[in-house]
Amino acid sequence: MKRYGISSWIVRNLEPRAAVAALGASGFRETELSAAEGQLVQAWERDPQGICGQLKAAGLAVRSIHCPPRGYGLCSTDATARQASYEAYMEYFDAMRRGGIEEIVVHPWIGRDIAPEERPEAPKARAMESLAILAERARRFGVKLAVENLPGKAPNLPGQTVEELLELIEGLGGHVGLCLDTGHAYMRGLDLVDQLKKAGKTLFSLHMHDIGPDGKDHFIPGEGAYDWGPFLTLLDSDHANVVRTIEVKPPESNDIIAERLRKAAAVKDAWEKR
Ligand SMILES: [Zn+2]
Repeated sequence: MKRYGISSWIVRNLEPRAAVAALGASGFRETELSAAEGQLVQAWERDPQGICGQLKAAGLAVRSIHCPPRGYGLCSTDATARQASYEAYMEYFDAMRRGGIEEIVVHPWIGRDIAPEERPEAPKARAMESLAILAERARRFGVKLAVENLPGKAPNLPGQTVEELLELIEGLGGHVGLCLDTGHAYMRGLDLVDQLKKAGKTLFSLHMHDIGPDGKDHFIPGEGAYDWGPFLTLLDSDHANVVRTIEVKPPESNDIIAERLRKAAAVKDAWEKR
């Protein structure tokens, strides 16, 4: 059985009740909570059990959550900022346990933390040190970490390919794996089929989206130029149980959220029938 999810980022600009209703009516049965600047995730932060319960009542399991922006400093040169990032994750680990969410997507760096002139070894070492600390804490909380590839052009950004991500998480335990973000890998010019093969059993989850005509990411699959066929064939054969979260940005107007959700669900339905 292929499993599909929808990232709650698409309903970022709705108040929580409307966000839950829109997701519930979408045709998806799983969601990844995302967009901590939106009211739904903020409501979850205050009441993890309550919001997960509302989503469940609307027909949606919440298997994963996106890392909070407060946790984006894992690669910072400033030790205090790194500490604050661990603490932000810790708060989420505790809330995840209470809401029954098993996995969190981890961003190992953010662009402003890495100077262009830094040698790659330095940010890589900071990322590895931070991930080791997070992995130990996650193990104690019983949650899984899915470390995501991010888009970026500078050669010193750590973990931009599956090979590099595997180096970052080596030896951290079976509760630490990868989230392969298809759009980010595509923007980097990588062969997605090859990346999927290399991820192997460490693949915990997928963020699936397309690159639009403007060159930006997080469009509905099919709205960009990527040919999904070979990637889906490999997914179906080797990673049939991995949740495929469609991660699409919120539209400019709330009036078309339902239409965007229907379009994303139509992609899911077509892929299920393959
Ligand atoms: Zn992503």
